[in-house]
Amino acid sequence: MDGISKFRSPIADPVVLEMARERGMEEVPLFADGRRNMPAQAWRAAFKRWAELAPERDGPVDPERTAASDPAEMTRLIKDKARELGADDVGICELTPVMINEGYSFPHKYVISLLLEEKYQAVLGGALAVEMETIDVYVRCAEVSTELGKYIRSLGYPAMADHNGTMELQAIPAMVAGGLGEMGKNGSMLHRRFGASFRPGFVLTDLPLVPDEPDLFGVQDYCMNCRLCENNCPPAAIAGSDDYVTTDGYKRWLIDIPKCYEASRLRDEYCHLCVDVCPYVHKGNGDPEKRSLYKQFMGKRRKAGWRTPQWFLEDEDGILNGGGRSEPLPALRSEVRSQK
Ligand code: SF4
Ligand code: SF4
Repeated sequence: MDGISKFRSPIADPVVLEMARERGMEEVPLFADGRRNMPAQAWRAAFKRWAELAPERDGPVDPERTAASDPAEMTRLIKDKARELGADDVGICELTPVMINEGYSFPHKYVISLLLEEKYQAVLGGALAVEMETIDVYVRCAEVSTELGKYIRSLGYPAMADHNGTMELQAIPAMVAGGLGEMGKNGSMLHRRFGASFRPGFVLTDLPLVPDEPDLFGVQDYCMNCRLCENNCPPAAIAGSDDYVTTDGYKRWLIDIPKCYEASRLRDEYCHLCVDVCPYVHKGNGDPEKRSLYKQFMGKRRKAGWRTPQWFLEDEDGILNGGGRSEPLPALRSEVRSQK
């Protein structure tokens, strides 16, 4: 099956490269190697890990196919295995051309989407802290999807991992069709327990599976009356409630990409605000700790001004991080693991 979706590389997107050039910048500041040490080192470590995992993304299929082939039984087995490997949620759907980027082609029937949660407390520590958490979760997504692919091949079925180190699939259509959540106004999929605070990995396979039903829990209606991401976005890049397109009866609010890039690429600080201010981080899961963190965070944002960028918390005394971030951020968990 050939892909039909346009792909926007987060690093080499012609729009951001042109914006940087127009401003006389030699590099896109967020990806410049010489910027603040921690993220540059962490991104280098992430790229190294993705390169290490690349050869294991696909591989030989065990010629002795497992005797079990009941799709319901296989689905249970695969979801249990994915959770055992570290996924926080798993969804399955049939692969369609819109889930594949232009220029790529896959013969597989299904796509398994794996979600790994970002720690909400970690992401509230400011631009540097959230970037470190994001990089770390992306690396773990790659590790879990690679291991799940190997496991499926050991059962005698083809399987190929896709993750942030490869980026050949479109995440949102696969996750939504796999019953993991609904599209929100902030341009992310909202999961009923994590909101938008997660990262995904994928496995393509022909293993007989039972696809999930879409999980509709009212996000699209709620977003019509909630303006939190819209009002907190520093460059006002998020559309108003009525400013959406409809595809097959489904609303999609489009982000003004050049405006978003002003804040999220052409500065050397990460921007994650439209994820952090979304109430679905606690709304659907009833987690009192997350709700309390959310309230404290939003109280600080109210005081600082809604469109204040992410980094304003970083050097403060920090009610959210036990007295501010005077300690260096920890190494990536994947780095710690590889040093053992
Ligand atoms: S990443 Fe930041 S700048 Fe971009 S849409 Fe979200 S809040 Fe706005
Ligand atoms: S912050 Fe509000 S409007 Fe934005 S995605 Fe979340 S629920 Fe929807």
